Amino acid sequence: MKAIVKTKRTKGMEFIEVPTPKIGIRDVIIKVSVASICGTDVHIYDWARWAQHRFTPPRIIGHEFVGSVTKVGAEVNLVKAGDRVSAESHLTCRHCYQCSNGYSEVCRNFKLLGVDHDGAFGEYLVLPEHVLWKNDEKIPDEWATIQEPFGNAVDTVLAEDISAKTVLILGAGPIGLFATGIARACGASLIIVSDPNDYRLAISKKMGAHIAVNPKKQDVTHLALEATKNNGVDVVLEFSGNNQALNQGLKVITPGGRISILGIYERRLNIDLNKDVIFKKIRIYGITGRKVFSTWYKTARFLSSGLVDPSPIITHQLPLKDYEKGMKLMKEGKCGKVILKV
Ligand code: NAD
Ligand code: ZN
Repeated sequence: MKAIVKTKRTKGMEFIEVPTPKIGIRDVIIKVSVASICGTDVHIYDWARWAQHRFTPPRIIGHEFVGSVTKVGAEVNLVKAGDRVSAESHLTCRHCYQCSNGYSEVCRNFKLLGVDHDGAFGEYLVLPEHVLWKNDEKIPDEWATIQEPFGNAVDTVLAEDISAKTVLILGAGPIGLFATGIARACGASLIIVSDPNDYRLAISKKMGAHIAVNPKKQDVTHLALEATKNNGVDVVLEFSGNNQALNQGLKVITPGGRISILGIYERRLNIDLNKDVIFKKIRIYGITGRKVFSTWYKTARFLSSGLVDPSPIITHQLPLKDYEKGMKLMKEGKCGKVILKV
């Protein structure tokens, strides 16, 4: 079969012929129909510092996908041939303290699809049955593939109640844009989105942002205070991974408010904990992965019910072989979500 493989410990990848994977007794083989590119895939492509420490070639990359089950192992009970599935990309151990206590999103032994296990950017992939998610028939393939990052946004937005609250969203990458749609669907009364990328700010307006602000052109702190009659916002959702943006968020959170942080930072942060966190008694939530599978249920309902229409975020659809074009678009920020047709 053909697949996108990270073959060497340098920049780039290769679209090559590889053996079709074989299944074990509790595994399933899936024919991939649509996949989508995540920032992680771009970091692996670029051979970024994170990838150099975390990734061992050769490996088929990709973890966002939808496809149909073609064959199941002898002891598989949860799915059958023909089922249209996506998957939780954190392949959990199901035995550690966290998995046993209902926090498998922080499993101590998890393996990442497309990093520690051959991924979805190929014609077929093999997965254990316990990570598979059966797709709602109302959700088209182009939306089913984005459920994994959409789930990140669900958990970030819904770490606490958001209805009739004022919200500042930092970073309008695909996940910040999903969050904008989710916050709007959940009845946030004011949504301010900040991003230096005007292309993405325009999409945020389509997703329901009341105010879209470019921090290179306008003072985000001033604008957020003005829009909230100097109260500051109830909720900050951090998707930029940028220290300056995080500090802007902490400054404009109203005392007693909350911040949920999904963004990942390249360096250690510099924040004024006393002034901006402790004496304001704000609640900070670190968000990672998704709750399995409660977040997947919510995601499917947001999408199948029409509560959130993600189509403005899906800006590009390319054949799998043109993945390099997709990687380039992502690096330049001239896109929302880039989808690959397998
Ligand atoms: P992305 O890189 O596409 O989006 C980040 C956005 O932040 C970009 O649009 C960028 O222009 C914007 N930005 C940069 N500087 C900014 C600033 N000063 N103010 C406001 N915006 C600024 O990423 P994504 O795929 O949407 O993911 C969002 C973040 O979440 C990333 O940091 C990613 O690494 C992280 N992430 C975390 C998890 C997790 O499990 N914790 C999972 C997926 C992604
Ligand atoms: Zn575990």
